[in-house]
Amino acid sequence: MLNKIIIAIDGYSACGKSTTAKQVAKILGYRYIDSGAMYRAVTMFFLDQHVALTNPKEVSRALQKVSIAFKVNAKGASETYLNGLNVEHEIRDIRVSEFVSQVSTIKEVRQAMVEQQRKMGKDKAIVMDGRDIGTVVFPQAELKFFMTADILVRAFRRQRELLDRDIMVDLDTVIENIQERDRIDTTRTESPLRQAPDSIVIDTTHITINEQVDEVVRRAISAMVKSR
Ligand code: C5P
Repeated sequence: MLNKIIIAIDGYSACGKSTTAKQVAKILGYRYIDSGAMYRAVTMFFLDQHVALTNPKEVSRALQKVSIAFKVNAKGASETYLNGLNVEHEIRDIRVSEFVSQVSTIKEVRQAMVEQQRKMGKDKAIVMDGRDIGTVVFPQAELKFFMTADILVRAFRRQRELLDRDIMVDLDTVIENIQERDRIDTTRTESPLRQAPDSIVIDTTHITINEQVDEVVRRAISAMVKSR
C-alpha cells in the first residue's frame, strides 16, 4: 500500500493550480481543497454584510458568522458552500476577485482559514492549492509545487474560463486584476506568496494541462513510496 501524503500547490493567480490539483486529486483518490475559494467566500460575505475591513473587531465578529464547507456534487466536483449556500460560481465573479487579495491580507482572516485548512489535512490524502500552503499551512507537506506562467497566457486562460460562463470581461481588465492580486499577494506582511525552498517549480506557459497533471502525479507516486 502507498502512504498517504499532503500535496501543496502554490503559485501566482491563474497559473492552472486548481485545474491541476483537481485532476491530481481525482487520479489519486485524494480530497481536493481550494484554499482560494475559502478566501473568496469570506470576501463575498464581507462585501454582502458591508464589513469594515480596517476594523479588526468587526472582522473577528463577522468571521464567527462564516461557515465554509466543500461538498462533492453529482459529477464528482467539489463545490464551495458559504453558510449552507452553494457559492461556487458567485465567488469567481470579478466583484469578489477585485477584493479578495485585500481581504486575504487581514491577519484575523488568515488565522481562521489556516486553522480550518490544517483540520482538513489532519488525515493527509489531500491536495490543497493556494499561496501559503507549502510555507505556512503545511510546511511539513511531503510534496510541494510552485506554479508560474507568463502573464499573458494566464490572462487568456482566465478570460476563456469567464467567457465559458458567459461573463464578458476585456483582456486588459483581466490582466490588471491578475497583476494587482500578484502584487498584493507577494508584498503583504502576513504569509506572503513565497516559493518554499523545498518546492518543485512548474512553469505552465508552454505545457498542457495533461502534462502538468502527469508531472505532479509522477512525483506524487514516488513521494508516496519514499515516505513509507
Ligand atoms: O486561488 P485564487 O486565485 O482563487 O485565490 C484568490 C485569492 O485568495 C488570491 O489572489 C489570494 O489573494 C488569496 N489567497 C491567499 N492564500 C491562499 C489562497 C488564496 O491569500 N492560500
